Amino acid sequence: MTFSQTSQGESLGRKRRRWRVFELLCVLEANDGLCTYCTRRSQVVDHVIPFAQGGADSLSNLVPACTRCNLSKSNRTPLEWWIGSFMRDHWDGNGTVHGGVRWGDGMTLRDLYLSRHEEALAVLENVEEVLAEIADERRRSWFIWAMSVDYPSAFMDISFYRGWHRAAIKEAKEAGWPDLRPEHLR
Ligand SMILES: [Zn+2]
Repeated sequence: MTFSQTSQGESLGRKRRRWRVFELLCVLEANDGLCTYCTRRSQVVDHVIPFAQGGADSLSNLVPACTRCNLSKSNRTPLEWWIGSFMRDHWDGNGTVHGGVRWGDGMTLRDLYLSRHEEALAVLENVEEVLAEIADERRRSWFIWAMSVDYPSAFMDISFYRGWHRAAIKEAKEAGWPDLRPEHLR
């Protein structure tokens, strides 16, 4: 038996795709190039519904994330991740969930959830906004036709391609994603 880094999704018989450069940049440069879950610069693509939970391995399920959030979220949906985090924040020294100093011990799990309900909705709304930006046909078409490279080279980090295309992406965004398709395809 060989030991390798195999995700749970792969053990279910699904193989993860290799992203093309245009797909990676289309996702990484969404949300102004920032992580969907915090304010750091994005570094990786995150499956909103985890691949291991059956989430699609396509642009309809990918958002930009920083490495820290991506690792922390791991194989959880945004809401599972977020709820897990605030439950953990309310663990007492024995691993039991309590309201803690702020809310007191009388707080139920339901109270605990409701106290952060608005924040949970904001997280989901942000994810939806970023997914909508990535789904924008005009924007996506620009990335397809503007990127002359297919798959990232094994020797170059995706940040190299980001740097390479940075000025063009900024300019295209300001111009409302010009139609780069050849005449006969319009
Ligand atoms: Zn982040």
